[in-house]
Amino acid sequence: MTHAAVLGPAAKDAPPIGSAACPADVLIVGAGVGGAALALALVSRFALRVRVIDRRSGPGNINRGDSLLPAVTGVLRSVGALPALLSAGARPVHKMQVFHARHGKLLEAPLGPATPAGALGTHLLDEDAAAPYLVLAHPEIERALVETAQHGRHNRGAAQVTYLCRLSRLLRTSEDRGRVCGAVVASEQGEEVIHARLVVGADGASSSVRTQLGLSLPTQPYDHGYYIIECARPSATAGSAAYEDAMRIELSREGGILVVPQGRDRLGLGVLVRACDEALFRAGPLSQKLAAIARRSPLLSSLGQPGGLAAFPKGAHLYALHRGHAPHYHRDGAVLIGDALHVTNPTAGQGMTMAIEDAAALARCIGPVLTRAARGSAIPSASTSESAMRDEERRTGAHHDIDRALCEYERERWPKNAAQIRWSHWLSRFYAWDGAIGEGMHTAIFRFGATPLGQRVQRVIWSSLATRTPVATPSVWSPL
Ligand SMILES: Cc1cc2nc3c(=O)[nH]c(=O)nc-3n(C[C@H](O)[C@H](O)[C@H](O)COP(=O)(O)OP(=O)(O)OC[C@H]3O[C@@H](n4cnc5c(N)ncnc54)[C@H](O)[C@@H]3O)c2cc1C
Repeated sequence: MTHAAVLGPAAKDAPPIGSAACPADVLIVGAGVGGAALALALVSRFALRVRVIDRRSGPGNINRGDSLLPAVTGVLRSVGALPALLSAGARPVHKMQVFHARHGKLLEAPLGPATPAGALGTHLLDEDAAAPYLVLAHPEIERALVETAQHGRHNRGAAQVTYLCRLSRLLRTSEDRGRVCGAVVASEQGEEVIHARLVVGADGASSSVRTQLGLSLPTQPYDHGYYIIECARPSATAGSAAYEDAMRIELSREGGILVVPQGRDRLGLGVLVRACDEALFRAGPLSQKLAAIARRSPLLSSLGQPGGLAAFPKGAHLYALHRGHAPHYHRDGAVLIGDALHVTNPTAGQGMTMAIEDAAALARCIGPVLTRAARGSAIPSASTSESAMRDEERRTGAHHDIDRALCEYERERWPKNAAQIRWSHWLSRFYAWDGAIGEGMHTAIFRFGATPLGQRVQRVIWSSLATRTPVATPSVWSPL
C-alpha cells in the first residue's frame, strides 16, 4: 500500500502522527504564525502527514503584530485560510493616515481595494479580486491557521497540532553523516519519539532547532522598542480626535504611535519607546505610561482619564527590537523558517509577513519531493521499522531530492528576506529619527508624499513592502 492521494483529517482513534505506527512526513517545531502557515500550506496541497508541536498551551495571548499585508493575504486565500480569518474577525482596512500632534493630517492614502458594501466575506474570497489588507489580533491569526490546517475541508493531507509539548533534542541517524530524522519531544505525558522525513524549526528568534543544528543568527539591537497596548476606540465624531477605520500614524517629537483598528471597539497601539523612556515603559506605573502616550497624540489625549478612553493593559508589553539574518537556512536535512531565521524591525510590518512567505515557499519547494518520497515507500505501520524506512528512502534518492529542494528554498528566500530586513531598517531609522530635525523631516517627507512625485515614491515603497508586485502595476494610491 502507498500513501492515499488524499489523507484528510486524522480519525479520532488513529495513532498520533509521528509515532512508530504512523511516521510523519514533516515535524514542525513551533505553532506560531510561521509553523501554522507551513502546516496549512503543506496539507492544503499535498497528501502529507504533518505533526506540529508547541511548548505553549495554545495560540498565544499577546499581540505580536496584527497586519496581514496583501503580499500574504493572497497566499492565505489560496490555501483556504481566509474563511477562518474572517470569521475570527479579520477586517479589511482601506486607508492609511498620517497625523502630526501639532500640524494635523499630513497624508492619506488608500491601502488596498475597497470592499463593496455588504459583500465583505464573499468579495474577499474571490480568487480574482485584489488581495486585501487585513488586520486581526495575532493570537486569532495563529488560531485560524491552526484550525484550518487541522480541519480544513479541502485539505489533501493531515495535520496534528500538540500544545504543551517542547523539543528536547533532534534525532539523528547513526550513519549518513548524522542526518536529522525526527526529534524527542517532552510533554506532561513524558517523552515521545517523533520520526519524520523532514524536521522544520519554526520556533522563533531563540530557536532550539537552530542551536542544535549549529546554525547562527547574529543580531544587532535597536536603540528603540515598541510598547504594545490596546485601548477603546474613539468615536467617529469627536472633532480633532475623530477616528475612522484606518491604519494611522500619530507623529510627535517624543516618538510616533502606530494605531491599528482591532475589531469594532478597540485600537491596538504600537508606541515607539526611545532609550530615555525605556525605564518608564518597562517597569513604570500604568497611569504614567498612559499619560506619556496621551501627551503624544490629540487622538489619544484622554487615554486612561476618568470618562476618557479606556486602556486594556492585559498582554501589554515592551517589545525589544533587533535585526539579524541567518547566513544558512538548512543543515543535515533539517530547515528553518520565520523568526528562527530572521528578526526585523516591525515598523514596516514584515516579521509575520516574511514567516508566512517562507512557509509558502518551503511548501512549494518541498511538497512535491516529500509526496514522491511518501509514495515511493511502504505506508508506515507498526511493523515498519524506522531503519526499513530509511533504507527505502536512501534507495529512492529521497535525501538527495530533499536537500536539493532545501537549497532551492534558501536560494529563493534569502535575497528577498535580506531586502525586507534592509527596507524595514531604513524605514525604522526614518520613523525613529528624534529631535527638531527628525520632526521637521517627518513633516516635510509625509507632506511630500501627498504630491504627485511623492505618490510615485510611495508606489515603489508600497509595492516592495506590502504587495510585492512590480511597480509598473496600476497604482492604488491617490492624492489627498
Ligand atoms: C514578544 C514579541 C512581541 C512581538 N511583537 C510584534 C509586533 O508588535 N509587531 C510585529 O510585527 N512583530 C512582532 N513580533 C514578531 C512577530 O511575532 C514574528 O515576526 C512572527 O510572529 C514570526 O512568527 P514565527 O512563527 O516565525 O515565530 P513565533 O511567532 O515566535 O513562533 C514560534 C513558536 O515556537 C514555539 N517554540 C519555541 N521554542 C520551542 C520548543 N523548544 N519546543 C516547542 N515549541 C517551541 C513558541 O512557543 C512559538 O509559538 C513579536 C515577537 C515577540 C517574540
